Amino acid sequence: MNKLPVMAGGKPVRDTYLIFGNPAIEQSEIDDVADSLKSGWLGTGPKVKRFETAFRDYARAKYAIAVNSCTAALHLSLLAIGLEPGDEVITTPMTFTATAAAVIHSGAKPVFADIDRQTMNISPDAAESRITEKTKAIVPVHFAGRPCDMQSIMRLSQHHGLKIVEDAAHAIETQAQGRKVGSIGDLTCFSFYVTKNIVTGEGGMVTTENCNYADRIKILALHGMTKDAWHRFSDEGFKHYQVIYPGFKYNMMDIQAAIGYNQLQRIEKYSIRREAVWQRYNESFKDLPVIMPSDDMLPGDRHARHLYTLLLKSEELKITRDQFMDALHKENIGTGVHYIALHLHPYYSEKYNLKRGMFPNAEYISDRTVSLPLSAKLTDDDVEDVIEAVHKILNYYAK
Ligand SMILES: *Cc1c(COP(=O)(O)O)cnc(C)c1O
Repeated sequence: MNKLPVMAGGKPVRDTYLIFGNPAIEQSEIDDVADSLKSGWLGTGPKVKRFETAFRDYARAKYAIAVNSCTAALHLSLLAIGLEPGDEVITTPMTFTATAAAVIHSGAKPVFADIDRQTMNISPDAAESRITEKTKAIVPVHFAGRPCDMQSIMRLSQHHGLKIVEDAAHAIETQAQGRKVGSIGDLTCFSFYVTKNIVTGEGGMVTTENCNYADRIKILALHGMTKDAWHRFSDEGFKHYQVIYPGFKYNMMDIQAAIGYNQLQRIEKYSIRREAVWQRYNESFKDLPVIMPSDDMLPGDRHARHLYTLLLKSEELKITRDQFMDALHKENIGTGVHYIALHLHPYYSEKYNLKRGMFPNAEYISDRTVSLPLSAKLTDDDVEDVIEAVHKILNYYAK
């Protein structure tokens, strides 16, 4: 990172470092993991089943399959819909690389469509303008936990015969126009990575209403072995397995599911906490040279409050976004950038001949965005420290 012209100064706001995206881990998951370790059943077993059932009910979906990451969930979902080389899949450049990499690993080509500047989600109009004869699917990402306009996206799906695979890594609690994310598109992929709203360390889930997709994903996730393989180590007696596909090793372990199941019991409690932090940030940053996340939503929407993204009004500041992050770091506060738009990364830019200027709204966010800590683990003092540090730096470097 660049050196600051001058230090915002003096003693840091905090003595100890506030880690961005620190998970809240409580005693019940510690006990449940210990129980798995003592039982000797570490791999895929009854606790995975229990977590899948609980998550399926929470997502109001018919089927839920636990895997070892959201990246795996996306990869298997895109294989399940039967993509072929030459197919195109439309997605947003304002996402983590895993979204587009999963498209590539399933044999297809990612095609980006610009976002709406206010919602930071893929614009249905921009997506429609990128549909060709080769388009087979759209992968909307519910950015920061804000729902995409799923009614418009499902309409595109119907008019053009496209599959919808949702990247809901940020969106476990999200509802779009009255419908719970997890039962809207053909397949929905969730993440339980350490920074996400609930965690398993590494972990992910696919939900779907389609039993063929569910079966296929279960088989692909465990070496391409027939379904019974999931029970092959149980006490029901020996069973031969049959390999019907060169599969993957994407299954979730009971140790992970033990964490996830207990976390899921507290999802609404954590959500209330993040909502309170969000509102406190909103009221605290009103007079600063920043744009706060929009609170405009469609009727029936619910925001999962996964990321609080401030946009710096760079025209009114003497420091860049990266210098602002560096200054917060010196105040002992960790931040993140979600995201540098994918088309600006060397791989996507070179491989697909993409340039700055092609997705101006994504670039606008990419250049200005900073994510502040929003974990349910934050204490009131932590939140006030973040607010104080942001004020200290932005007041010092205001033009
Ligand atoms: C975290 C994240 C992923 C990847 O999730 P993993 O569980 O780490 O594989 C995919 N997409 C988005 C938008 C994410 O934020």
